[in-house]
Amino acid sequence: MQVFIETPIEYLKGVGPQRGELLRTELGIATFGDLLQHFPFRYVDRSRFQAVRELHGEMENVQLRGTVSQVKTLGEKMGRRLTAKLTDSSGTIDLVWFKGIRWLQPVLKDGAEFIVFGKVTEFNGRLNMAHPELELAANWEAGLDNALQPVYSTTEKASARGLNSRGIGKLTEAMLQRPDFYLPETLNPDLVTLLGGISRMDAFRHAHAPRDQRLLDEATRRLKFEELFFIQLQLLKQKVLMARSVHGVRFTKVGTLLNDFYSKHLPFEPTNAQKRVVKEIRKDMGSGRQMNRLVQGDVGSGKTLVALLSMLISLDNGYQCAFMAPTEILAQQHFATLSRMLKEMPLEVRLLTGSTKTAERRSLLAALKSGHIHLLIGTHALLEDPVVFHKLGLVVIDEQHRFGVAQRAKLWAKAEVPPHVLVMTATPIPRTLAMTLYGDLDVSVIDELPPGRKPVKTVHRFDSSRNAVFAFLEEEIAKGRQIYIVYPLIEESEKSDLKDLTDGFESLSRRFPLPKYAVGMLHGRMDPATKDYEMARFKKGETNILVSTTVIEVGVDVPNASVMVIENAERFGLSQLHQLRGRVGRGADQSFCILMTGDKLGNDSRTRINTMVRTNDGFEISEVDLRLRGPGDLMGTMQSGIPELHIADLIADVEILQQARSVAQRILDADPDLRDPAHVNIAAVLSDRTRNKPLWGRIS
Ligand code: ADP
Ligand code: MG
Repeated sequence: MQVFIETPIEYLKGVGPQRGELLRTELGIATFGDLLQHFPFRYVDRSRFQAVRELHGEMENVQLRGTVSQVKTLGEKMGRRLTAKLTDSSGTIDLVWFKGIRWLQPVLKDGAEFIVFGKVTEFNGRLNMAHPELELAANWEAGLDNALQPVYSTTEKASARGLNSRGIGKLTEAMLQRPDFYLPETLNPDLVTLLGGISRMDAFRHAHAPRDQRLLDEATRRLKFEELFFIQLQLLKQKVLMARSVHGVRFTKVGTLLNDFYSKHLPFEPTNAQKRVVKEIRKDMGSGRQMNRLVQGDVGSGKTLVALLSMLISLDNGYQCAFMAPTEILAQQHFATLSRMLKEMPLEVRLLTGSTKTAERRSLLAALKSGHIHLLIGTHALLEDPVVFHKLGLVVIDEQHRFGVAQRAKLWAKAEVPPHVLVMTATPIPRTLAMTLYGDLDVSVIDELPPGRKPVKTVHRFDSSRNAVFAFLEEEIAKGRQIYIVYPLIEESEKSDLKDLTDGFESLSRRFPLPKYAVGMLHGRMDPATKDYEMARFKKGETNILVSTTVIEVGVDVPNASVMVIENAERFGLSQLHQLRGRVGRGADQSFCILMTGDKLGNDSRTRINTMVRTNDGFEISEVDLRLRGPGDLMGTMQSGIPELHIADLIADVEILQQARSVAQRILDADPDLRDPAHVNIAAVLSDRTRNKPLWGRIS
């Protein structure tokens, strides 16, 4: 039997092959189910009217009630059009039609009262409405059953062929009225009650054709809850299964390595937050379960030390560690830092990246397999098949929010018992997103910066005041500080971006000439050896200024660098700006971040810049970012493989998300296998989802 929601959209009256194709390609609607999930993004209250006087520029979904006058046709052939004036108590607006003139002219009687609905635009300084929906006021009053008119999103192309909001609404209506319309209940009776008692079928009905605001609210709340609930249930269930089937190595010993390091080689006292997080990690790794923990800590909060202490626990228990970084530069930096910190310890620390030479690689792999290497640091190269460990106990993944379950699974193959996994990220992810992205991970937060840090002072400067900025840089250099100057490098405009970078480098070299000054340059296209060289020179203080692209964005740590200048700051996203700013403010000196922009700024860029100037708080910044970009985009760039949301909104519906998560948790706590007959509905949905849409399916 054909399930209702799987019925191809062509089977709907009024669709046919051509429209079917249009629905599929333009709106992604292939089945009845897809059409059902194409929710209105807004509702217009058709019992309310705007006044002509309130109208301005571009306005959509404008509804007016007024009297028609001066109906006439103008122009010839292609330019032929029908115009009329609509007058209400506040003013007059032009109406215009280019098509259907023959039908409309007899209807538009001078002096008749009409309801018009449509989009207002400004043309030659006059407001007009082209092709409004039109109804005689008398008819309209008689037929007023649904005051709340759904507004559906559509595309220009679909719209031009009759699939405008109204057209989609008609199709939806036809579908809901089919005698075979049936949707099985997905929630348990008590959950339905909790959500106001509205059934699934009714919820869909009211979401598309609400009778009143209250029913609409109830319906959308239920549908949002349901959408978020099943995602949470799936994530949490995965966690239950993992805890059950996957045993972890039990690290019981706190041995000499950790103790020695702690008492003799620790370069600074860990912050309380660092101590707390290490404790949480130790507890996980000692539990006999496999650890999957996310450590969130703002830039500069000291995640590296947390990783190091955790790795020492693993080593004390006789297990090797892997430390994976997203870029070669960062891997090298970690290698340098960790080698330095561990140099008095009897430990073999090695680096493996894509540019490790074949011969070296061969001996390294052999030493790894025999257990001679204790700690291997590297890039994605660590994931490759020939990389075989003797006994891998802990994998630390730094700054990679793209690292999903699939990648983690790849690591498991590298050990008999899956290693513990620690994911570290500074990319501030709003809690709601973290809950959805990392719902199957435990989360620790380092919510404290090491003492003595002064917040970075951030200012916005226009390109026109560049000279003053350079004078400031000169002063800072005179104080012995170092400076980053970062240029955007966007792949699509790579050529001109690289030119901007080299031009910038040249003009800086002229402004800060040798031998008094030294300016270095760094970008991703340079060969690794040159990159190393430039980075090393800057680290050693041999260059005063490093002109670079965002290759230095993540994790790079040069405490003496105290000024970050970001060129074309309007072209960067918020989280990127925040990451870049995090490269300074690492020492005890006052640090600065200077955001350079052109004179003209769009609204979003202005908000981004102002947010950066206003706050240093990564979480606050991430909330603004999420609001500006929308979760889709944010997650798109993260390639997170997050399930698509049709009705819920991660920003607006935080509260529902939290409720969904806690209900899901409560259910699984009481009935982890969903065997209770009361849970039969949700168990069915869950097994269906797990079969058809594995949560992380899109990660390759
Ligand atoms: P992130 O969390 O951004 O990875 P890092 O681990 O790179 O931060 O640490 C940032 C800087 O702070 C480093 O220079 C590090 O040596 C220093 N640091 C880390 N923890 C402490 C601490 N407890 N006290 C003082 N300095 C610290
Ligand atoms: Mg780091």
